[in-house]
Amino acid sequence: MRKEPERTCVGCRGIFLQKDLIRIVANKEGQVSIDDTGRKPGRGAYLCQDQDCRARARKRQSLQRALRCPVPETIWIDIDQAVTALQDKGEE
Ligand SMILES: [Zn+2]
Repeated sequence: MRKEPERTCVGCRGIFLQKDLIRIVANKEGQVSIDDTGRKPGRGAYLCQDQDCRARARKRQSLQRALRCPVPETIWIDIDQAVTALQDKGEE
């Protein structure tokens, strides 16, 4: 069986399966968005589903540092929604 790809969460530095992480991507123009397909071009960063981890990452600006560009505050709403969607999917 093929091993599933793993990635590091930029918030807690934990290793998770890529499919369990939220991918955030910054494109060439410096626009930050959630990558729900896993195929968007640009510099990507991963966050796990843990709410405390997200709060910490937000406070420490881990995402800005990982993406090397400013991250709009609204991205955190999108991330929350993406986590909820991921969790819903997992419960099916
Ligand atoms: Zn994390």
